[in-house]
Amino acid sequence: MNKHLVGAFVAASTAFGAGAVAAQDDTFVTIGTGGVTGVYYPTGGAICRLVNRGRSEHGIRCGVESTGGSVFNINAIRGGELEFGVAQSDWQYHAFNGTSRFEEQGAFEDLRAVFSVHPEPFTVVARADSGITDFEDLQGMRVNVGNPGSGQRGTMEVLMEAMGWTMDDFAVASELQAAEQSQALCDNNIDAMVYTVGHPSGSIQEATTACDSVLVNVTGDAVDMLVEENPFYRVATIPGGMYRGNDEDTMTFGVGATFVTSADVSDDVVYEIVSAVMENIDQFRGLHPAFAILEPAEMANDGLSAPLHAGAERYYREAGLIE
Ligand code: GLU
Repeated sequence: MNKHLVGAFVAASTAFGAGAVAAQDDTFVTIGTGGVTGVYYPTGGAICRLVNRGRSEHGIRCGVESTGGSVFNINAIRGGELEFGVAQSDWQYHAFNGTSRFEEQGAFEDLRAVFSVHPEPFTVVARADSGITDFEDLQGMRVNVGNPGSGQRGTMEVLMEAMGWTMDDFAVASELQAAEQSQALCDNNIDAMVYTVGHPSGSIQEATTACDSVLVNVTGDAVDMLVEENPFYRVATIPGGMYRGNDEDTMTFGVGATFVTSADVSDDVVYEIVSAVMENIDQFRGLHPAFAILEPAEMANDGLSAPLHAGAERYYREAGLIE
């Protein structure tokens, strides 16, 4: 938790800009993201940048926090510690329905969808000298399965269960944070890392440039079954040529990154935030290469399994983006 708070402070000061002074009636909102070398962190930064530009009109001050990822963000929204978060579509679904790793806590009925963002393939990167080329090859290897609270840790566990694997199938199962794993890979402390992340991402760039490493195919019966049985999973391709030493396409499955909040956050605040992003969508697309393909009509509809927040719904109706 301390780590998150430190990250939050640094991130928030950056997002607000040095020397900015809060007006007394400003409304503060914080977006929970992920590790600083992922795509959630720049996603939160891009949203806040567009929101904060209109601060003199709407009085909303938006800041970002680097966190442990999807599951952490959803739980922090539930606990009222964060107003917004970025979360994988599979964990949005399970949190709202009280299924999978949210079964014990029960359904988070006040979880609300705001919009979907970029696709996130389940990405496995291995040291080139490990000989790993397919997901099955991870057995007996040193694998970073992700920190608890991250989306990839949850999705990895779901996939492992579908494969009939436990953590004992690995020589070592480490729990490093997303931002630490590329260095661990290149330092030869692990053979492979998993990350559910948009592309290109700083983390995978680091893993493929600081040492020789390869993107690993994640295919087979277990993956086919997961895609067939769950609306939030789909087959995904990471195009070749995006990362050094990886010229071929990589076949895997994936989810979508989504922007979520709680029904407790006011309609006007959510309306203003959605409006700041949608009215400036061209600029938003330019803020990260993973956003280049985003379309407002898809953002308002795809990959959202929790109900739309009423403020978002109002904007989408006005803009003709939903029926
Ligand atoms: N999908 C990851 C998670 O849910 C985060 C990816 C990112 O930070 O871009 O934890």
